Amino acid sequence: MELKPGQKYRCLACGQIVIPNEDGSCPICGAPFEMLVPVDDDGNDINE
Ligand SMILES: [Zn+2]
Repeated sequence: MELKPGQKYRCLACGQIVIPNEDGSCPICGAPFEMLVPVDDDGNDINE
């Protein structure tokens, strides 16, 4: 899974919908990109 510009993610660590930092980490709790799942604008998980 790649970091997509503008893609929103749900953080499994803090539960927030976030736009990741440039390094892919959660801007709220700092969890690594592996802890983020992509979601659509309604906050629903996107199955890839
Ligand atoms: Zn987080």
